[in-house]
Amino acid sequence: DTFSGMKSTEAKAAITAFFEKENLGKEVVNYKLKDWGISRQRYWGAPMPFIKCETCGIVPEDKSNLPVALPEDVEITGEGNPLEHHPTFKNCHCPKCGQPAQRETDTMDTFIQSSWYFLRYCHDVTSDVKRAFTKEESQYWMPVDHYIGGIEHAILHLLYARFFTKVLRDLGYIDLDEPFTNLLTQGMVLKDGAKMSKSKGNTVDPDAIVEKYGADTARLFILFAAPPKQELEWNDNAVEGAFRFIKRLFERSSMVDTMQEIVIIDHATLTKKEKIARKKVYEALKRAQEVYSEKHTFNTLIAGVMEAMNALQEQDNRNVWSEGYWIMLHVLEPIIPHVCWELSQNLFALKNFQTIEICEEVFVEDTMTLGVSVNGKNRNEIEVSPSATKEEILLLAKQSVQKWIDGKTVVKEIVVPNKLVNIVIKG
Ligand SMILES: [Zn+2]
Repeated sequence: DTFSGMKSTEAKAAITAFFEKENLGKEVVNYKLKDWGISRQRYWGAPMPFIKCETCGIVPEDKSNLPVALPEDVEITGEGNPLEHHPTFKNCHCPKCGQPAQRETDTMDTFIQSSWYFLRYCHDVTSDVKRAFTKEESQYWMPVDHYIGGIEHAILHLLYARFFTKVLRDLGYIDLDEPFTNLLTQGMVLKDGAKMSKSKGNTVDPDAIVEKYGADTARLFILFAAPPKQELEWNDNAVEGAFRFIKRLFERSSMVDTMQEIVIIDHATLTKKEKIARKKVYEALKRAQEVYSEKHTFNTLIAGVMEAMNALQEQDNRNVWSEGYWIMLHVLEPIIPHVCWELSQNLFALKNFQTIEICEEVFVEDTMTLGVSVNGKNRNEIEVSPSATKEEILLLAKQSVQKWIDGKTVVKEIVVPNKLVNIVIKG
């Protein structure tokens, strides 16, 4: 009864504590680690640096000969391990006694390399060819802030990579406990509803898009098509759409003045359409801060920029255009870097890639729209200032529905703040 009604996680802890208190048992963690056979009978893997000598047995390769590199002149027949049949790779001399001997032709499971390659990526191989990686560089670059991969790696690869990291830490090669801070598993790419795969022959070659439209179009299409965690349906028309947006971004830049700091705009003097354009632009900037730091829903950010672009096109104030581009190129730079750098270099000397402060003033609504109904039926809308009094609102409302209330007796006037006005009439 003591444990009834608890959540199972709480109950587990409580029951364990009870057993420990009563000296009936204690908490232990069970690992299901098993031995791992890492040898593979294939070419594509890191060679094992061992030599089989008839006299000395299995001998490690001499350090001066490390790393053992795969031969590049192999014949891939699709049958067996080509290293088995490679004369100069297989036949060698024993590092110990110098007699003719044979090199190990099994290679290592590729999971071995993927378990520590991130440390290698941190290493400047030109400055130090002797070491695979260094503690200092690993300290500087690691852990990986944001790890992106397929869901199929969520178990094995990540488990092995963490295991290697902890072993290397215990051996003193790195000061790192966990290799990856965040994980994002991206969705699959579908074509006509099916998973793209070489065997099905329904793959799309991104190089072809890059060739025809440029890399930015490929990037914009992919990030706009779906949030990265979801599946992405390939769509040639949408690729075309992404290309058109980039083209429009280029063409409309003729509306922008060159400047090296953001233009100061007197918001109160703007027309309604100019104000809307500014608001859309700053909404995109606000969204960018959220999307890049936590949400990663790049598609919503791109949609926001497209809305801002449309709103800009509804007006022709060059200052509003210039501010808009200052911000839009800033926001889009990680998504379509080539285009943004080129435009930004020409227009703003890249100064807009620094932090931009949000102008809160643009979010203040200077009018609001109220629906006006007569006997509960929608008849019209009015624009009022947020500071308008009830009397002012009623006056405007009645004027707007004059033809429905003319000659009738108004028996009730209802103002629902920020929403609507209802006029009740009789006769
Ligand atoms: Zn030997």
